[in-house]
Amino acid sequence: MMQYSQLLDKKIYMKRIPEPFRIKMVENIRMTTRAEREKALEEAGYNPFLLPSDAVYIDLLTDSGTGAMSDRQWAGMMMGDEAYAGSRNYYHLCDKVNELIGYQYTIPTHQGRGAEQILFPTLIARKKAQGGATHPVFISNFHFDTTAAHVELNGAKAINVVTSKAFDTTTYYDWKGDFDIDELKKTIAEQGANNVVAIVTTVTCNSSGGQPISLANMKAVYEIAKQYDIPVVIDSARFCENAWFIKQREKGYENKSVKQIIKEMYQYGDMLTMSAKKDPLVNIGGLCCFRDDEDLFNEVRTRCVPMEGFVTYGGLAGRDMAALAIGLEEGMNEDYLAYRINQVAYLGDRLREAGIPIQYPTGGHAVFVDAKLLLPHIPGEQFPAHALNNELYLEAGIRSVEIGSLLLGRDPETGKQKPSPMELLRLTIPRRVYTNDHMDYVVEAFISLKERFSQIKGLTFTYEPSVLRHFVARLKPIK
Ligand SMILES: *Cc1c(COP(=O)(O)O)cnc(C)c1O
Repeated sequence: MMQYSQLLDKKIYMKRIPEPFRIKMVENIRMTTRAEREKALEEAGYNPFLLPSDAVYIDLLTDSGTGAMSDRQWAGMMMGDEAYAGSRNYYHLCDKVNELIGYQYTIPTHQGRGAEQILFPTLIARKKAQGGATHPVFISNFHFDTTAAHVELNGAKAINVVTSKAFDTTTYYDWKGDFDIDELKKTIAEQGANNVVAIVTTVTCNSSGGQPISLANMKAVYEIAKQYDIPVVIDSARFCENAWFIKQREKGYENKSVKQIIKEMYQYGDMLTMSAKKDPLVNIGGLCCFRDDEDLFNEVRTRCVPMEGFVTYGGLAGRDMAALAIGLEEGMNEDYLAYRINQVAYLGDRLREAGIPIQYPTGGHAVFVDAKLLLPHIPGEQFPAHALNNELYLEAGIRSVEIGSLLLGRDPETGKQKPSPMELLRLTIPRRVYTNDHMDYVVEAFISLKERFSQIKGLTFTYEPSVLRHFVARLKPIK
């Protein structure tokens, strides 16, 4: 029997690629009435983050930790070795990272932000010890929200230099996750190379729409970094999806395997932070790994103990590390990736057919609806994508998430709302969880909302936290 990946290689595209798995266990979900949803949303301060998941029918809030583990992963958990120090599952995980990614030194963390919280202050301290970082900055194609938060909590500035093509949602471009190389060089010159603590290459670029970065761009960024002796951190939540896009789109890589591409990607970095709750298909977990810098590894380990836990478990149970080692490899399976990316594209294509503007082409883990185009009457500081999120919930019990002004927050220096280049509603698809019938349901919900878009109202705060406000803010619709 031919593999899906071979079908794709031969350009025999199926409109829908069926699931390369069978469903062995189910979780029942509850349908709610409109009256129940109205009450739930009001109680949640018009912030879907504060909704109990029981009040949600289709949950597209995030693909983080929401995937379904396989029978092999569950079996792995049963073989967990729960030692505080030196669990054999830790050593197995290190071997897998070395084998699949090519990095020698591994620290497990409770999730991606755990890796950020132990790595970033160490990098800043190191730069200061070398006489630099009087005005510390990190430069990224686009910092993820917790990534930017850890940069800022450590007194540094997070600067984004993603290609401007990423902001033009309606025009096709293969690499909307690429760094703008001129902008990168200019920013290094303006800030002074001595102040640049690290360059963070985010694969795929979550904030521009789960958009891939090309190997050519990763390589160019790495060469610039080496010229100035700046370390490169690969923010790796969706490294498998990124590799899949490289195989599909980048010249010279069509006959390379995803595994080979991943190995090459990691040559253009010195270390990685990883949220294992995304592509590695576990419900909790993260990694902080180093290609060969043993000194840095040891410094970060020292910080790991008080923050995350002892160095051979970093906030994870032995069984979690077993599931992660298996998930790392399952996430790279090409039949799985073909199905995964196809499901996202299917939702995107159907929404486009229905006249809903989305970030085009669709990226790896989600469809991003362009709320700026859809609700032009709501200004950024009244959060158009968040307003759309609420309306979609009330209409159909679907929860998604705003990626725009609300997420971006205020400039810590001036206290003013940072101007957001995009106002997106992210419909995030958990891995191996929903079928395309669920995707059809989402499209129908948008279609039934169509006549009412112009009547949707913006929102204002009743409670606004100072850091990562979108998670727990409370709001009310503007009358
Ligand atoms: C999710 C994510 C993180 C943070 O990881 P957590 O596991 O949520 O702590 C960092 N960077 C990117 C790109 C992410 O998508």
